[in-house]
Amino acid sequence: MFDELTGNSRVKGVLERMLVADRLPGAMLFTGEEGIGKKLFALEIARALNCRTPKDMEACGVCSSCVRIRKLNYPTRDDADEWTQIIWTDHPDVGLVVAPRRVLRVEQMRQIEKEANYRPFEGKARVFLIDEADKLNDASANALLKVLEEPPRTSHLILITARPAMLLPTILSRCQMIRFSPLTPAEIEKYLIKNDTDVKTARLRARAAGGSMGRALSGDLITFTSQRKAMLKVLNALVLSNDRAQLLRSAEQLNEAQYKDEFEERLDVLETLIRDAWMLSLGVDTSRIVNEDLSAELKEIAQKIDPGRAGDWILQIEDLREQLIVNVNRKVTTDSLFLVMAGDVAATKRPKVR
Ligand SMILES: [Zn+2]
Repeated sequence: MFDELTGNSRVKGVLERMLVADRLPGAMLFTGEEGIGKKLFALEIARALNCRTPKDMEACGVCSSCVRIRKLNYPTRDDADEWTQIIWTDHPDVGLVVAPRRVLRVEQMRQIEKEANYRPFEGKARVFLIDEADKLNDASANALLKVLEEPPRTSHLILITARPAMLLPTILSRCQMIRFSPLTPAEIEKYLIKNDTDVKTARLRARAAGGSMGRALSGDLITFTSQRKAMLKVLNALVLSNDRAQLLRSAEQLNEAQYKDEFEERLDVLETLIRDAWMLSLGVDTSRIVNEDLSAELKEIAQKIDPGRAGDWILQIEDLREQLIVNVNRKVTTDSLFLVMAGDVAATKRPKVR
């Protein structure tokens, strides 16, 4: 039933081979942008493991186990206590935890440890999803390490994150990492049309979604479009106009109160733009880039971009994300990020705090 999931055919192949060979790791880390199906793939694994009538180790999709695993019972109320429990599917062996107030807590990891040690109640394997794994703090990460070190053979943990750089090395080293790619506009378009969006709207949404099905479906394309416009200015200033004043204006805008909650999203968008320009500079076809609708602008940038520097920029952005965890002054850090990217200031690689 992996067929029914959109995109990431390489990942499908990898997971199918692991399942068929009965070599699915006890701990996996699914990485890749928001809204590209990481959680759906994780649930599909849970179904494959627990399906009553599997075919070649793939879930049938229709038996009672398959049907019940599809449904996650998110709490309906804003009650913090409920959100800090394991959120079960309708199947007693499959559940997930999320970060209620932007932190995954120690108690949640202890619950997972306890549950993972039980044998499956009904199916063949217990599967636990840890969503937003980048929201583990030191204490909860340490609590999780205990299970990750030796997960019982019948339990599987799948950590999910769009920001793997924020995870402790000790966690990273214990998980098999599976990287998901952004979806192509064609993949998103096909899905939208299949789900009753008219062809014209589907085309538009797919092209402006920046590789994220979540964004194409949620419809908040206006915010996204303005974020992308702002970040394209940064890339233009870096590559084409060499405009320091623009860079500082952009840094300032990133820190304006009204965009406070969008800070990380904007950095994500900037990264996809850099990657696209970089790919175009290497001769990759426009149908394979994320921001296909901006291909004219990105091609112009691609002609001037230095691929080595583009790689550095992405590392520098990741570095900024790490620094932000330790309460550094965001304004100062963002200013200096853009100046480092412009090559005015040497990158100061600060020692890792954790
Ligand atoms: Zn089934």
